[in-house]
Amino acid sequence: MGFIADSLNRIQPSATLAVTSKALELKAQGKDVISLGAGEPDFDTPEHIKEAAIKALREGKTKYTHVDGIPELKAAIIAKMKRDHGLEYKPGQVSVGTGGKQVLFNALMATINPGDEVVIPTPCWVSYIDIVRLGDGKPVFAECRLEDGYKLTPETLDRAITPKTKWLIFNSPCNPTGAAYTKAELKALTDVLVRHKHVWLLTDDMYEKLLYDGMEFFTPAQIEPSLYERTLTLNGLSKAYCMTGWRLGYGCGPEILIKAMQKLQSQSTSNPNSIAQYAGVAALNGPHDFIAEHNKAFVERRDLVVSMLNQAAGIKCPKPQGAFYVYPSCAGTLGKTTPKGKRIETDEDFVTALLEDEGVAVVHGSAFAMAPFFRISYATSLTELEECCKRIQRFCGNLR
Ligand code: PMP
Ligand code: GLU
Repeated sequence: MGFIADSLNRIQPSATLAVTSKALELKAQGKDVISLGAGEPDFDTPEHIKEAAIKALREGKTKYTHVDGIPELKAAIIAKMKRDHGLEYKPGQVSVGTGGKQVLFNALMATINPGDEVVIPTPCWVSYIDIVRLGDGKPVFAECRLEDGYKLTPETLDRAITPKTKWLIFNSPCNPTGAAYTKAELKALTDVLVRHKHVWLLTDDMYEKLLYDGMEFFTPAQIEPSLYERTLTLNGLSKAYCMTGWRLGYGCGPEILIKAMQKLQSQSTSNPNSIAQYAGVAALNGPHDFIAEHNKAFVERRDLVVSMLNQAAGIKCPKPQGAFYVYPSCAGTLGKTTPKGKRIETDEDFVTALLEDEGVAVVHGSAFAMAPFFRISYATSLTELEECCKRIQRFCGNLR
């Protein structure tokens, strides 16, 4: 028996964070590296949100708060859920944590017993799998194929559910594919869940505001009200409000679950950062017009990246309608060799050689449980994106 807990052997470090760190390290060594690894907006936090934080700091809002959120922030979240989705919640049904990641962690840790199954549509955000494994649960992958726009079909969902299924984790718009579901597609999925009454739904709405081409957002509990009693709606401030470093996320769901999550959080981090919570109130209650501005930029960037990637030999890139990711297939490059003599057998080989030869950091698809693909985060300037895509085209063109 080693010193480190066995449970840690079941998980991997977060690949998205690892790629970001690696790119920063190479840059610090003076290498010409551009990172399209990090899943965070390049835009700064809007001024009115920063001002609210400064005000809170000046007013001495520097003490411990309620474990799962100050009443003002819970009220702002409740108002948001009513305004955007027509859903009613009480303060005891709202949990605020240090990032959406902690809320997800709390929810899974508070409910999973050894052997419990969690259906995860893949490709998926890296952390779903590892948090389930840390809790000794069993991730059950439901594959979402490129041919289906990387979207879960009702048939695949139905097949993945067993008597041991505790949760379905659902994410639209999706990290890492950018896939966004229409109302009708969502309804077809919630219809399946209506038939499987023992399955809880954890819907990760983190990219809700980042939707393009006239797509409209719906959260599942809004489409199928009977699921309200077994749904945790997860959201956060990181993406829409450009607050990744502030660490603020929240979940809304049945009181029995929220209470268990609060118990767990009271024995780990206690409350989320007090200053960030006051900033969060300003974010949720404040103007939202900057989001449309950001989305305009994201669409322009997406279109450039998709078009340039599809001109790279061996790459196939669908055009998604949400988030700030694309998830191209690199199947056409497998079996080829780089000018330096490295043979590309997997998507991990592809991204490693791309970083070494061209200084472009992206995340391999196998980290998101679907290979051979890679993820690009296009939340960076058009100039950098154009340069990166040129390098990818050159890299692919040089493979033999
Ligand atoms: N869900 C998804 C789909 C994500 O991509 C992320 C990554 N940031 C999170 C949740 C968690 O975000 P945060 O902890 O920054 O709120
Ligand atoms: N979710 C973001 C990403 O996928 C941030 C990093 C992380 O928390 O994994 O890159």
